[in-house]
Amino acid sequence: MDKTSLLVAAVYFVAAILFILGLKRMSHPSTARAGITWAGFGMIAATLATFFTPKLGNLDLIIIAIFIGSTIAYISAKRVAMTDMPQMIALYNGMGGGAAAAIAAVYLLEPHVIRPDFRVLATIGAIIGTVSFSGSLIAFAKLQGWMRKAVRFPGQQYLNLVLFIGIIVIGVYISMGHTDLYLIAIFFSMAIIFGVLMTLPIGGADMPVVISLYNALTGLAVGLEGYVLENPAMIIAGTVVGAAGTLLTQLMAKAMNRPISNVLFSSFGASSSGAEDEEVDGSLKPIEADDAGVMMAFANSVIIIPGYGMAVAQAQHKIWEMAKVLRERGVNVKFAIHPVAGRMPGHMNVLLAEAGVPYDIIYDLDEINDEFSKTDVSLVIGANDVVNPVARTNPDSPIYGMPILNADKSQNVIIIKRGKGAGFSGIENALFYQDNARMLYGDGQDMAADLINAIKAF
Ligand code: NDP
Repeated sequence: MDKTSLLVAAVYFVAAILFILGLKRMSHPSTARAGITWAGFGMIAATLATFFTPKLGNLDLIIIAIFIGSTIAYISAKRVAMTDMPQMIALYNGMGGGAAAAIAAVYLLEPHVIRPDFRVLATIGAIIGTVSFSGSLIAFAKLQGWMRKAVRFPGQQYLNLVLFIGIIVIGVYISMGHTDLYLIAIFFSMAIIFGVLMTLPIGGADMPVVISLYNALTGLAVGLEGYVLENPAMIIAGTVVGAAGTLLTQLMAKAMNRPISNVLFSSFGASSSGAEDEEVDGSLKPIEADDAGVMMAFANSVIIIPGYGMAVAQAQHKIWEMAKVLRERGVNVKFAIHPVAGRMPGHMNVLLAEAGVPYDIIYDLDEINDEFSKTDVSLVIGANDVVNPVARTNPDSPIYGMPILNADKSQNVIIIKRGKGAGFSGIENALFYQDNARMLYGDGQDMAADLINAIKAF
C-alpha cells in the first residue's frame, strides 16, 4: 500500500471512531449536540480523504454535486421548523437510499469492473436502497400532510408478492453479470413501485417507525455499496446506521406495543378505520386559567405531559417558567415523556433540554406511570394520542395496545389545547370527557403565560 492509500485508510479509521463515539454521545440529551458535531467532523474527514483515493475521476462533477447538495441541505435545515423535522429526515433518508442504488446501477451496467461476489452485494444494495428511496418519499408525503389516507386496494399484498419475486428473479440474473439495459431499468422500476406499494397502506401514526426502518435499510444499502466501492468508511458508517436504525425501529415498535409486522401490514392511524367517528360518553368541561392556576398552586404534586402542541406553540420556555414558580411554592413538579410524543423520537426531550429543564425531573413512561394515581394534577400541554385511554380499553381503536401515560388516573387533569382538534391518529380522546378532566382552551404558550400569572397572583 502506498503512502497516500495508507493515509486515506488512517483517516477513514479515525472517521469511523468519530461516527461511533458521536452516536454514543447522541444517546443522552446533555451530550447529543456534541455527538452530532463529532459525527459531522467524521463525515467531513471521510469526504476529504475520499478525494485522495487513487484513480478518482470526475472530480469536477463531484465538487459541483457536493456544492449543490450542501447548499440545499444548509438552507433547508436552517429553515425547517422543528415540528417538520421527521419529514426532512424521511427525505434525506430517501436520498441516501437513492444514492446507494445509483452506485449499484453504475456497477450493474459495468459488472466486469468489480469482483463477481461484489455484484451480488451491489444487487442486494440496489434493491434495498431503491425500496428505501421510494418508500421514504411516500413517508415524506404522508408526514407533510400531502397524503392523509392509507391507500389500500384488493390484491395489494399479492401484487407486492409478485413484484418481490420478479425483483429477486431479475436481480439474480443481473447479478450474474448480464448487462441488459432494459432489464436493469425494469428491475429498478419494480423496486421503486415495491417501495411505494409497501408504504401506501401504512397509517400516518406509524410513520416514525417506518422512517426508522427505512433509515436502517438505507444504512444497510450504503454498507453493501461500501463493499462494492471497497470504501471502509462507507461500510462502517452504513453498518452503524443500519444497526442503530434497527434498534430504534425495535424500540419504537415496542413503545407502541406493536410488532414490526403489524406496523407494516395493518393501518394504525389510517383514517379508513372509522374510529375517529367513535362516540365518547361525557362532556368537555372548560376551565379558566385562573382556576387552573389555583388548582396547581394548591397541589402537592403536578406532572406535566408535553406533546406535539407544545412544540407547535413553542411553549417549552413558559412551561418551565411555570414549573419553577410552582416549585418555589413547594409543589413537586415532574415531566412525563411518552416515547412517541411529538413528531420525532426524542422531540420532547430536545425541547425541554432547550428550555433548561433539569434531566432529573424528566421521566420516561415506564418510570412514572405508577405515580399518576398519587398525583394531584396532571397538566397535559398539546398532547393527545399519548394520553388517550382508549388505547387501553377499546380493542377496536387503531391505537389499541399502545402504552399511554396514565394521566387519566390522577386526581385532576388539565388539558391545554386550542380547540377540539384531534391528535395525529385522528381519533377522539376519552380522557377529555372524564369527570376529573378540565379543558383549558388556547394556544399553549399563551395559556402557560396565563397560568404563571394566575399562580403568581397567589
Ligand atoms: P397529538 O398529535 O396526538 O396531539 C397534539 C395536540 O396538540 C392536538 O390535539 C392539538 O389540538 C394540540 N395543539 C396543536 N397546536 C397547539 C397549540 N399551538 N397549542 C396548544 N395545543 C396545540 O400529539 P402527541 O404528542 O400526544 O402524540 C404524538 C402522535 O404523533 C402519536 O400518534 C405518534 O404516533 C405520532 N407521531 C409521532 C412521531 C414521533 O416520532 N414522536 C412522528 C410522527 C407521528 P388542537 O388542534 O385542538 O389545539
